[in-house]
Amino acid sequence: MDAIEAFAEGVFATRGDGSGELLGGECAACGRRYFPRRDHCPGCEGRLAECGLGDRGTLYTYTVVRVRPPLGLPAPYAVGYVDLDRGPRVFALLDPQAVNELAIGMPLVMRVGPLGVDARNRPCLRPYFTPRRGE
Ligand SMILES: [Zn+2]
Repeated sequence: MDAIEAFAEGVFATRGDGSGELLGGECAACGRRYFPRRDHCPGCEGRLAECGLGDRGTLYTYTVVRVRPPLGLPAPYAVGYVDLDRGPRVFALLDPQAVNELAIGMPLVMRVGPLGVDARNRPCLRPYFTPRRGE
């Protein structure tokens, strides 16, 4: 059996143990961080270098989607905006197993695991945010 691959290249890093972080861009001139990465800073037009954005954030807002999901995701699933501790606000998939626990303002941690299928209908790894427990 082939190893399950990421749904896309260059979006996140994982050590293969379920941990990971999103990969963004940091401006060498002004220090702003962006996700997804782009070539130039919209703030000052400086060059951006790839940087890890960490695995922690806070749930800014979210919604639970109950219509037939795309990409082989389970139903229901949830998406939301996460304010990263070390980066910008990002639009992200939330843990389908934690749909009923979600609350605005809660601390989250990013995980990477098999979730849904890729554009070629193969099972793939996806990053998602799940409630941070015990902190
Ligand atoms: Zn800049």
